[in-house]
Amino acid sequence: MIYDCIILGAGPAGLSAALYAARAGLSVLILEKGMTGGQISQTAEIENYPGQTIEGESGITLTERMLTQAKGFGAEKKRDTVLSVELHGEIKRITGKKAQYEAKTVIIATGASPKPIGCKNESEFVGKGISYCATCDGALYRGRDVYVVGGGDSAVEEAVFLTRFARKVTIIHRRDTLRAVKSIQDKAFSNPKIEFLWDSTVDEVAGDEVLTSMYIVNTKTSERTHISADEGFGLFGFIGLSPNTQLFEGQIRMEDGYIVTDEDMRTDIAGVFSAGDVRKKSLRQVITAAADGAVAAMGCFRLLDLRS
Ligand code: NAP
Repeated sequence: MIYDCIILGAGPAGLSAALYAARAGLSVLILEKGMTGGQISQTAEIENYPGQTIEGESGITLTERMLTQAKGFGAEKKRDTVLSVELHGEIKRITGKKAQYEAKTVIIATGASPKPIGCKNESEFVGKGISYCATCDGALYRGRDVYVVGGGDSAVEEAVFLTRFARKVTIIHRRDTLRAVKSIQDKAFSNPKIEFLWDSTVDEVAGDEVLTSMYIVNTKTSERTHISADEGFGLFGFIGLSPNTQLFEGQIRMEDGYIVTDEDMRTDIAGVFSAGDVRKKSLRQVITAAADGAVAAMGCFRLLDLRS
């Protein structure tokens, strides 16, 4: 079958695109390699999506409802890992691990992934003390010390969340002021379980089975401090995102690894649109991802309408 529209990625951008495209009468397939929801599925509480006032609404519950809504209009979703894409030409070809797919239009909504902290021995301790997802791994550190690297919205928001489990949460930030918005900062500054290590970065981590020790470097004085705990501790990295665009390198116009679109979400390839965090833009939020998805879907609809 040749779909009218294949959407790569089932985060808020892809799911909103699916809703709008399916509701406009297009045949729609969403391809997703992991769980529904993308990055927002790792967020325990959403409080800035308009109208979202349901207490305890998580990224998972919100995006599950988005999927149900899109499926209600006929969108299909398949779990597959895309290995390669051929985006030029009238018919776009997507090769997955399980099957090949064809479509007249494609919406790239593959999102972005957390950047590694960048300290020595980091990869050895991922899943053994180092994590990039507080919702997934926070409960493992009940009653222990937890360290969070970063000073943006994610780091500070997730640090506040981690105080539910940890004895103490220390935010390690490379400067002496936070990047996070004021409302999020205020929550952290007023939380008695949160401390700050300013002007600091993690240089090296160590341990046996699990992470038990690390060296912190002061970015101003270069002083090196050793932190250790026999029972182990958690180190969470939230230092920004890298776009998931490796599949499209050499085919599509990008800047700094992000896909470049016009305001109608069109890329430089006819029939190929992009939406959400994977796209070059200034504000990466659920609402902007959802808005991008809607615009991209209507772009596909108009293009196919013109061709018919
Ligand atoms: P971000 O805004 O890019 O912040 C990254 C933080 O990590 C910055 O404080 C940065 O320090 C620090 N950093 C970067 N590279 C580093 C390195 N190599 N070593 C140590 N520290 C490093 O990323 P984010 O917090 O993940 O947020 C990503 C996007 O999602 C943003 O647009 C954010 O607004 C959005 N977001 C929104 C919400 C919300 O609205 N509730 C929640 C989460 C995320 P500097 O400050 O010195 O640059």
